[in-house]
Amino acid sequence: MAINPANTEQLDVENIDGNTMKLRSGAIIPRITKEAADRRALLTRSILAKLHLSPVGEPVAFDLSEDGSVMFYFDSSRVTETPAELWYNTTERTANRETVTLESGNEIERMGTRRAASYGFYTKRRLDEMNYDVVEEPVAYNIAKDGSTVYFYDKKTAIRRPLKCIVCGKDVRYKRKMCRACFERDLLRRREDGDAYRAQPRGMSRERVLFFDLELTGVYTHDEIISVSITNGRGDILMDTLVRPLRKKKWTKTEKIHGITPAMVENSPTLDELVPTIKELFANADNIIAFGVSTDYSHIKYIYETEAEQEALHKKVRCCANEFVRFQSEHYPDNNHASLIDAMACLGISWDGIPHSSIADTIACMKVWEALFPNYYID
Ligand SMILES: [Zn+2]
Repeated sequence: MAINPANTEQLDVENIDGNTMKLRSGAIIPRITKEAADRRALLTRSILAKLHLSPVGEPVAFDLSEDGSVMFYFDSSRVTETPAELWYNTTERTANRETVTLESGNEIERMGTRRAASYGFYTKRRLDEMNYDVVEEPVAYNIAKDGSTVYFYDKKTAIRRPLKCIVCGKDVRYKRKMCRACFERDLLRRREDGDAYRAQPRGMSRERVLFFDLELTGVYTHDEIISVSITNGRGDILMDTLVRPLRKKKWTKTEKIHGITPAMVENSPTLDELVPTIKELFANADNIIAFGVSTDYSHIKYIYETEAEQEALHKKVRCCANEFVRFQSEHYPDNNHASLIDAMACLGISWDGIPHSSIADTIACMKVWEALFPNYYID
């Protein structure tokens, strides 16, 4: 089994360059001489087999035989005893044991396809179907019905070929299962679609679009709202208040994030006291927008008692973070962080007021939204 030119061409150039080889796991192993292998007490597969041992894990070095096939060296301290049924030392096995000697001098045993597969040995064709290239000489063989010899190779030492682009099928994958050229064509198309979608005139009134942000005692359903900020599309502050929770007395974890302490909310209104105002604001809004709206929605929806009312609110809700993620994937595909701060940096938006105060976040969200949808409002 020589590495003929055609075979080498299929390999990633990284994989084997004469002096090093990259294994499937990503490990790079050196080519060493027989003398060096002896000094390090490294063993070949055939020596291990004679000792009734099997390697544990990957080879640690390799050498090329004269015929170009790869001989792997294994760490002699990382071996396991081969199960007795593989020793061929039962009378029957010994009697029936059939072997052939390869050009390298290594002897390999005949075995059935099923038994071979149980050791992870497959034919070259099967490994090719699994997207692997064979570089080592065969580790076993069988005789097919037509009398021809079928060789089995160890999947552990085969090299996985880079996957091909799902669009052109020619080049190696780069992103989104596509090659670089196909990815870039796809990116341009998605960007055009996205830009057209964002540029659509929506005819919204700045008074009837609300932005909001909640601070919570925690992220779970049983957690309570301790701050509500609401602005409209003009940046008018319609509500910006701390809220006194009814059940929770402390929230040490989230306190570090939003800085709201139990003492600060002692004299604040309860949510129940604010509900009529919030309901009125929401009733007069066409869209209600937050950055990462799902958490906010899952808490604010409880100001409504019926599912129908909650569903009506859900229909008005929009997520600024989702829209930013889409924009970013179309314009800055190498960026993958999408916090409010990332969105502001990406779109060149500065803070009004103290960052991470509820109202500053709300106004930042309003600005991010307008940067994403420049024709959102009529006024
Ligand atoms: Zn392609």
